[in-house]
Parts: sequence; structure tokens; C-alpha cells
Amino acid sequence: MTLAPVARIDADVAVVGSGFAGSLAALALLRRGRRVVLVERGRHPRFAIGESSTPLANLLLEELSDRYNLPRIRAFSKWGRWQRARPDVACGLKRGFTFFFHQPGAEFADAADHQRQLLVAASPHDDIADTHWYRPQFDQALAEEAQVEGAVYLDTTRLERLRHEGGCTILEGERDGRSVRITARFVIDASGPRGFLHRALRLDEAPRRWLPATQGLYTHFEEVDRWDRLRPTSEPPPYPIDDAAVHHVFPGGWIWMLRFNNGLTSAGAALTDPVAAALGAADGAAAWSRLLATLPSVADHFRSARAVLPFFHAPRLAFRSARVSGPAWALLPSAAGVIDPLLSTGFPLTLLGILRLVDLLERTSAGRDRDVALLAYEQATLAELDATERLVAALYATMDDPPLFKRLSLLYFAAASFSEAARRLGRPGLAPGFLLCAHPTFGPELTACAWVAASAPQGSARRALEARIDRAIEPFDTAGLLDRGRRDWYPVAAADLMASAEKLDATPMEILRLLERTGMVPAAARN
Ligand SMILES: Cc1cc2nc3c(=O)[nH]c(=O)nc-3n(C[C@H](O)[C@H](O)[C@H](O)COP(=O)(O)OP(=O)(O)OC[C@H]3O[C@@H](n4cnc5c(N)ncnc54)[C@H](O)[C@@H]3O)c2cc1C
Repeated sequence: MTLAPVARIDADVAVVGSGFAGSLAALALLRRGRRVVLVERGRHPRFAIGESSTPLANLLLEELSDRYNLPRIRAFSKWGRWQRARPDVACGLKRGFTFFFHQPGAEFADAADHQRQLLVAASPHDDIADTHWYRPQFDQALAEEAQVEGAVYLDTTRLERLRHEGGCTILEGERDGRSVRITARFVIDASGPRGFLHRALRLDEAPRRWLPATQGLYTHFEEVDRWDRLRPTSEPPPYPIDDAAVHHVFPGGWIWMLRFNNGLTSAGAALTDPVAAALGAADGAAAWSRLLATLPSVADHFRSARAVLPFFHAPRLAFRSARVSGPAWALLPSAAGVIDPLLSTGFPLTLLGILRLVDLLERTSAGRDRDVALLAYEQATLAELDATERLVAALYATMDDPPLFKRLSLLYFAAASFSEAARRLGRPGLAPGFLLCAHPTFGPELTACAWVAASAPQGSARRALEARIDRAIEPFDTAGLLDRGRRDWYPVAAADLMASAEKLDATPMEILRLLERTGMVPAAARN
């Protein structure tokens, strides 16, 4: 076939993939005066999975917006701001992380001590709450922002070849019957797992090391009932149970439920291979029905629900690229690896990667310094994916053991809330690496605890592990996570952060100012 004349584009940076991550990277680079071409193989609006944000993810979004002067992006970092500034972009209210632990075939039942549940609040009220991003509209809005700021945007573009020529990368492909030729000094791959550079450069896939093989089965529904309507609690929970990332955990897998404010709910399951095989996960809707038949209390949510899209079956959820960067190219963390949605780790990992990469491109120019910095970026990205994989693998190993699962998950909540507070206080050095993985004591302890937990310890070995987890958490616990009196229902309490000032090298006044600045307490509380 002969293609019509060539569209030639010369750019400082080519960003491949216009999900939220590619558009944010493009926006930051544009703000630093770079010429950016943003290449998308599809067209917005489009479905994308990965929807639930976290306090750390939203803080990183805020940091990015402030660093690169992107006030319209900042609006997306909290529920209240978002509703006021962009009511046209759907999202969900996320006040916390809800976990219920099910026994297949049995109705969910629990006692007053909440043995079979864990509720961890992420915000004290709606206005400063986190959100679930309704990706068809959210990603479209960000891609539009990138265009407004000056990105050359090429959607429906099929990139076919890549080669290096005179210090530049040439990307060639086709759009609307015309050939496209992009000359770029740097390429950022934001095209997701097994994406553009992974294929074009024939990068090796790294094996999973700790995580069992898992599959995904998911879609969007309407008319999904609420847990708090079906099963009202006798005492008030720390936040409305369904205004959260709801996790229904069972041996060998778990279901997520994320409610949006447009009447839709994202729901799906991550299943280990044996469970997926037993359900025939590739059958889509029929497999979902078979799964719900084993979980009667989850099925109650879906009595009147209807899927509004066909089911997606992902035969393999996890992915790791062996390489993350090279001369004049880098994968964003979301292109370098996917672990599992269990702890909503994808967004913060990706946002950390964008901040690092754009900073790196600003600080260095092509040559040895940049190559060294790119290597450090690769090592940091791989180390963070490792830490995430270890912890999530340990959680998979304990899905039939709710007390140990819950205790382990506190490592995540401690690391995430400590990191958030440290960054908000302007002391990011206190919290190095995602999950504090580069911290000299917490990092190795997280590894050790995850490793021991994966061997299903019993008796004294188990008690020793529980004590070890508590010891690892204690210096970083700014959220009252070790207070057993809370019976696994954790509110966000300003007093917990106030009591943790020393752990954060901060004065009580600094903590009070932080609480006021972030809307955790009204400014008047100072008097
Ligand atoms: C089942 C599941 C659930 C998840 N849930 C969560 C969650 O709740 N919270 C969380 O933090 N993370 C979650 N994640 C991770 C999350 O999905 C990712 O971190 C996030 O989607 C990354 O966004 P992105 O913009 O980098 O990539 P994507 O959203 O994958 O976007 C990539 C874009 O690149 C385009 N593209 C692909 N190939 C090419 C090409 N060759 N040329 C041009 N364009 C191309 C695609 O069309 C797409 O628009 C989940 C992941 C999975 C698998």
C-alpha cells in the first residue's frame, strides 16, 4: 500500500501513550519549555482499568501540579475541589480502604471485634477525600489539557518502527492513511504493560519472583447495591463503608468494588490461576456468575446489577519488564510493571516515576550524567516494584488467614501514611522509596516480614512474626495502627498525627499547621 505524504514532527520528547500518565508527563515537560509530541494508538474517550487513587497518589498529583504550575490538574487531587472545578468529569468518593474476608459458600458474618474485616479511613471528611478516577473522562480531560498547553497530539496512530540516527530517535508509523515520522531526542513510554518500547526494543520480560500467577476479570456495572444498605452496622463505622475501595477477600483471590458518581460501579476480581481455572475465568460473564455463587454476601450487591460493558479477562495480571531505561528512552513505572491492584499501588508508583523522570530530564542533558541518572531511575523503579510484589505476594499467601493478612497490610498503611506526612512537612528524605523500601530499617524489615509470612508460620513462629511486624511499624505509625482497641476500624484522627510529631522530626506547631493546611482540622482549632 502506498501511503499519502509524510507528516514530519520534530520534538524534544515523544511520549507514547495518552493515559493519565502520558498526559501528565507531557504537561510537566511542556511547562519546562520542551516540545512534546503525545502519541496515542486509540482515541479518547476510551475504557481503562485502574481507577482507585490513594492519599499518597493525590499528594503526588498535587506536588506535580504545584511544581509545574498546573492549577487545573490540582483540581483533581481531592474530591471537593474536583466537584467544584470539574463536575463534568465523573469520579468516585473514596474515604478509605474496606476489607471483608469471606469463606466460600458461607454468608459473611462477624463479631463485635471485627475479626473478618478491616476499615482504614484515608480522610476525615468528604471535601478532602480521595477519588476513584472514571478513566474514560479523566484521561480524556488530561489529554485535552496537554493539547491546550501545546502538545502535538496524534491519536489513532500506529507506530511501527523505531531507530536511532545522529543522537535522535526516529519513530515511524501511520495515521489516517498518512505516514508519520517523529524525530525526538528522548522517548517516554507511557503505553502500559507490554507496551510500545517493550516490543520495539524487544526487552525481556522479567519473571514474577514472589507473587502467584493471577488473572483478572472485570467490567463496569449499574445498579450495584450498597453494603451499608444491605448490612447496616450497629455502631457508626469510621466512614461510609461503600464510599471506599471495597475489597472482598477469599482464599485465592479478591473482588474490588469502586462506586462512581455517575451511577456506575467498577467491579472485578483478581484470581490465582487455580481459582480462575475452576471458575473458567475466560468465559467472562458466566465466570463472574459462578464466582458470585460462591460468595453469597457479595452476590447480594449484584441482585439487580447489570454489566454495561462486556467483561474483560486478563489472562495474566502481573508484568515486569527486565529493563526500564536506556540511552534516550525510559518506561514509566506503569509500563515497566504491574503487580496487582490489591493495595492501589499503580498510581503512586507511576506518579513518583513521572516526577523523577521529568526532574532528571531537566537536570541533565544527553551524555554520561544523564545515562547515570537513567540507571538510577531504573534501579529505583525496579526496587519499588520488588517491594510491592513482596508485600502483595505475602497478602496472597494469607488470604485464608484474615488476622495475619490484616497485620501485614498495616505495613502498607504505616508506610503510606508516614510517607504522606513526611512529604507534606517538606521532609521527603524521611520516607525514601515507595513503601519506604529504601529506608535502612523499614525496607529490610518489610522484606523479612513478607518472606516469613509467605511460609504460613504457625505457633511461636507466627507470634514472633506478629511482634516483628509491630516493631517494624511502630517508629512509622502516625495513624494509631497499633492501637488494638480500635478493633481494626481505623478513623483518621488529628490526635494520632499530633502524637507522632517526634517520629516526623516535627514540632507540634508544625503538625498543627499541616493539619490546618490540609483541611484535616479547621483553622480555628488552634485557639
Ligand atoms: C485490573 C487492574 C486494576 C488496577 N487498579 C488500580 C487501582 O485501583 N489503583 C491504582 O493505583 N492502580 C491500579 N492499577 C494499575 C493502573 O491501571 C495503572 O497504574 C494505570 O492504568 C497506568 O496508567 P497509564 O496512563 O500509564 O497507562 P494506561 O492507562 O494503560 O494507558 C496507556 C495508553 O497508551 C496507549 N497505547 C498503548 N500502546 C500504544 C502504542 N503502541 N502506541 C501508542 N499508544 C499506545 C493505550 O491506548 C492507552 O491509552 C490496576 C491495574 C490493573 C491491571
